Parts: sequence; C-alpha cells; structure tokens
Amino acid sequence: MESLLKRTGRIHSAYWLVKLRWAAILVLGMGTFFAKRVMGVTLPESRLYIMTGILIIYNFFLFNYIKHLTREKQEPSSKRISRMIMFQISADLFILTAILHFSGGIENPFCFFFIFHMIIASILCTKLHSYIQAALAIFLFSMMVVLEFFRIINHYPLEGFAAHNLYLDFTFISGTLFVFSSTLLIGVYMATSIVEQLRQQEEELEQANKLLEEKDKIKNQYVLRVTHDIKGHLATIESCIDLVYSEILGPLNEKQKDMTARAYRRTVKCMNFINALLKITRLNLAGKLEKERFQLNKIISGAVAAVQTQASEKNISVKYEGTDSVYEIIGEQVLIEETITNILFNAIRYTPAGGKVILAVKDNVSEYLIQIRDTGMGIPKGDEEKIFDEFYRSANARKVERDGTGLGLSFAKQAVEKHGGKIWAENNSDKGSTFSFTLPKAAKA
Ligand code: ADP
Repeated sequence: MESLLKRTGRIHSAYWLVKLRWAAILVLGMGTFFAKRVMGVTLPESRLYIMTGILIIYNFFLFNYIKHLTREKQEPSSKRISRMIMFQISADLFILTAILHFSGGIENPFCFFFIFHMIIASILCTKLHSYIQAALAIFLFSMMVVLEFFRIINHYPLEGFAAHNLYLDFTFISGTLFVFSSTLLIGVYMATSIVEQLRQQEEELEQANKLLEEKDKIKNQYVLRVTHDIKGHLATIESCIDLVYSEILGPLNEKQKDMTARAYRRTVKCMNFINALLKITRLNLAGKLEKERFQLNKIISGAVAAVQTQASEKNISVKYEGTDSVYEIIGEQVLIEETITNILFNAIRYTPAGGKVILAVKDNVSEYLIQIRDTGMGIPKGDEEKIFDEFYRSANARKVERDGTGLGLSFAKQAVEKHGGKIWAENNSDKGSTFSFTLPKAAKA
C-alpha cells in the first residue's frame, strides 16, 4: 500500500515479511512434529524439516540483506525495495508449493494458505503485481497437481489425516483447482479494492493536511504583518506618553500625572503582549533553525542572571544545581535562551514571596535533561498539558497574575520540539511544580 509504505517506510514492510516468515517457520516446524508424533500422520518428516532449515537460512539471509540496505548511506530506492518484496512473495509461493507437495499435495487443506500471500501482495504491491502473484500461485499449485496426477513426480499421502488417492480423482482435482483459483483471484480483487480505497482516503487526508498547513502559514503571515504594524504605532504612543509623563512638554497636575502613568503602564503591557505574539509567530513561520554549536552552561548562567532582579524583589532564591561539566548543544541559541528564561520567569511569577527556584541539568545517555523546580502554586489537575497550548492560562494563574499572555510556554514547546526534544510539566509531591525539557547532545566535534 503506497500510503502505508510512505508512512512507515518501504523498508519496514520488507522487515514485516521477514517477521511473518519467522512465525510461519515456527508453525511449519511445530506442525510437522505435532502431525507426525502426536497425530500419527504419515509424513516425509525429514524432508519437511529440511524445508524448515532452508527457510531459516533463507530468512536469515534476507534479514541481513535488509539490514545491509538500511546501513547504506543512501536510502535504498523504493523501486529496489519493491523488487525485493516481489521476490520475497514469489519465493514464498515456490516454498509453500514445495511444502504442500511433501505433505499430501492437493489433499492437504493447507493449500488455501496461499490466500495469505495474496493479501500480503495486495497490501504491499501494486494491483498488477498482486494479480501476477495470484497467477504465479495458481500456476505453481496447478503444475504440482498435474505432475502428481500424471505420476511424473511422487505423491506423498497424508495417511491418518486426509483421504488419499484423491490426487488421481479428476473431478475432485478440477473442482478444487477451480475453487482454489477463484478464491485467490477474488481475494486479490477484494483486498486490492479495499487497499485502493484506503490509499485514496489517505491521499485526501494528506491533501487536506497540506491545505491546512498552507492556511496556517497564511494566517501566521497575516498576524505577523498586523502585529508588526501595531508595534510601530504602539512604540510611538509609548514614547509620546513618556514625554508627557516626564513633564518635558510642561508640568502636569496630579490627575493628569496619574492618568498618563496608567496609560503608560497599559501601553507597556500591550507592548509585552505584541512582542510575545511576534516571537511565537516568527517561530511558527521559521523553516529551518539557524544552528550553531554552543554551551548550555553559558546560557543557563545568563538566564539565571536575567531573572535575578524579579527574584530578589520577591525574595525568591534562584539556584543552579549543576556540575562543572560542559553541556554542548547544536541548535539556535536564542531560542533555548528564551525557553529557559520564560520558564524561570514563570517560576518566579507563580511562586509566593520567600520561595525557591532550582534549575538542574542531568546528563542522560544521548540527551540533556533540564529541570526547573519551584515551590509555587502548582498546576491544577488536568492542566499539565493544556498550559502548553497558545493563550491557555490556568484559573489559579489568572487570579495571581492578570496580565499574562499565555504564549510563553507554547513558545518554549515549539522551540524545544524544533530541536528534537520534549517538554512537560508536573506537580511536585510537596509544593509547586517542575518543568522539564530534553535536548539532544551535540555529537563530539
Ligand atoms: P503566562 O505565564 O503569561 O500566562 P505561559 O504560556 O508562560 O503564559 O504559561 C501558561 C500557563 O501555565 C500560565 O498561565 C500558568 O497557568 C501555567 N504555569 C506556567 N508556569 C507555571 C508555574 N511555574 N507554576 C504554575 N503554573 C505555571
């Protein structure tokens, strides 16, 4: 199925076939043992075990070949993998025919196991290729039946399980071959039709997704333009009010001073919101990151220093618990700096006076874990994920801090995810909450 293959990668389909074959090998080995030793069916046991052995070697070879393909510098072309999948299914048809030949031929009801190969082919190959596989299966099975009928090859009866000499019964043979062929062909027809419908639906979904992404981009570009314009006007208003408030243009009476101070405060809040909106919109629109190698340690010290004024105003201690090791990252430094500062500012804002904020970095195998823990008000149950949505603010936060933007954490989430990391929040067992995020380590230079 092209869309399935697109999603999981054609190479995974090839692996899937190998896995299925391991299961089939197990069933063949155990089935032979059970039929012969438990049910007492006459079987050319050693031949069937040889077949099992051949299958094990064949599957092992295939597994290593696929592994080798994935190790190649360039992704193997989808044509090459399709050819390999076709080869695997065809080879399986030959092997199944040989197994059937050694276990009763047309008298063995397991001959209908061919239908599984047809379903697999319909999922993994094109419609034409699926019908080619069906034709091959019908041809191989019929050849075996005809050759046994004319006694050109030996017939191995399943005494103790199925009636024998049926392989010489012309009516039985023609009836079975008819049912066998029509089952395979109808099976392929049904499976390929369903797969085609699914493929079409997935393509439609993909199209709709693309359209949504396009619209989202247009919306972001629009927001960026408007916000940028508003910011220009707001900056002018802010400096005008500042001029009036500072009485450079003439003295103000008490009432005028109070009014201009209020207007100024509102303008600053509005400006903060506009700046946050601009940052997140730019991040939304950004394609690739402008990556560089940098030390996380420096950024952390910078961020801790940046929040010291706010922290000391509330008598909150902000501490960094780290080792002397150097934590190297490859990414866009400004984004990571902004992320840490946003989370630190939040920790200070949502922690009552006299509290504690601790920043720690842990060196995990392939990534760094950065954690910011506070002794604040915590996150209401059920809001732990929602707070990362744009504009979402918890009820308790709105009571304490009226003027938040609800954009700081969604910025942090996007920035971390663009670096291939994860971010999450959880409440501490005692007081407050911990915000954690991971960043992949830079490969050694
Ligand atoms: P803002 O803080 O401006 O509201 P954010 O996006 O930074 O916007 O945060 C979103 C919400 O996450 C906050 O409104 C608050 O409900 C919650 N939050 C963030 N940090 C903390 C924290 N340290 N403790 C408790 N809640 C927090």
